[in-house]
Amino acid sequence: MFPSHSQNLSKLQQMLEKFYLEDAHFDKDLIFNSTWTKPLGVSISAHLKFIESNLGNPLLYLGTSKMHDMCVKYLSSLLNLKEGHGKILSGGTESNITALWIARKIYGKGKVLYPETVHISVIKAIDLLNLEGVKVSVDDDFRADIGEVEKKLRDDVIAVVLTAGTTLFGTVDPIKEISELLDDQFLHVDGAFGGFILPFMEKLGLWKGEFDFRVYAVKSFSIDPHKMGMSTIPSGALITRDDYFRHIRFEAEYLSNGYSDSLLGTRCSAAVAATYAAINYLGFEGYTKIVKRCFDVRDYALKRFEEEGLEILHKPPMTIVNLKFKNPKKIYKKLLKRRVYVSLNSKYSSIRLVFMPHIDEKKVDLFIENLKAVAEEEL
Ligand SMILES: *Cc1c(COP(=O)(O)O)cnc(C)c1O
Repeated sequence: MFPSHSQNLSKLQQMLEKFYLEDAHFDKDLIFNSTWTKPLGVSISAHLKFIESNLGNPLLYLGTSKMHDMCVKYLSSLLNLKEGHGKILSGGTESNITALWIARKIYGKGKVLYPETVHISVIKAIDLLNLEGVKVSVDDDFRADIGEVEKKLRDDVIAVVLTAGTTLFGTVDPIKEISELLDDQFLHVDGAFGGFILPFMEKLGLWKGEFDFRVYAVKSFSIDPHKMGMSTIPSGALITRDDYFRHIRFEAEYLSNGYSDSLLGTRCSAAVAATYAAINYLGFEGYTKIVKRCFDVRDYALKRFEEEGLEILHKPPMTIVNLKFKNPKKIYKKLLKRRVYVSLNSKYSSIRLVFMPHIDEKKVDLFIENLKAVAEEEL
């Protein structure tokens, strides 16, 4: 029932505290299933400072608008695009929906080709926009099968979505090779996860191969500052080669700038300030260090897994590792009971672990301890 009168403030705070304690938290819990992490302190304070801001009505928030445009510039240059366009949005889902919305506006209705490892948001977008999906399988390395893409690329394919850092495996589709098979289709790269990792992996010598706007056919790219970008939720970005947002511009005189060209109306623009803060606080060097540390912890885990005789599904290119089990669902459920958070990847008979900055060697050891205890219960 809706409360009829005001609640005593300290009582309310107690209630909030109780709920807070029921939630999992990055510091103390074993959260191996999240692609987001604890935001930087500077980002949290920037978020709180700009909590009123709403770029749905941008002329009220000229300062936030400036930070927004600078973030678009930073991310474009990170992705090797000189004169980039784009928007800071609420996350990868909104970015992917917006990319396909733009593609449909430009090309009209048609088919969208995607590998089976595509993120669910792309499937949602295809459904919402009344497009038709064409699924292609992946090769042994969980990357889009080039031969099958070639076969299935027909005239009525308007868009192709490839992933730079798949959610399940951290794999990168052969973007360059597939781009060479395209005529004029809209090529969208979903780098929601990998966008803030691959550029730093390149710097560290951990990655080779073009995945971004260096591939000429790439028209748009999703990158999430609220994942390895260390910013606050909700913060995603869609970076585009041209000013494609004009295709989804709707006039609305009541708004301060007279139009809206994003899916959401009211936008949590505190996250824009948080993203601006994270990027400036860390710089390329700071992100490179964070990514390096995640790889070090991942390598420690791989070593420990090997010592324990655990089977690794495939050589992980990024910071996502899948452990193969006969019955992953049972293990998943038992781990969950112990408040050890991993993802179930039934289709590939594995348990998926993501190595984000909140995971350290100690947590890896604790995870293994729990896993062993669970495995013993099985016997
Ligand atoms: C996280 C993710 C998304 C969805 O992003 P949200 O920010 O959760 O909406 C899309 N694609 C990939 C590859 C992702 O990792």
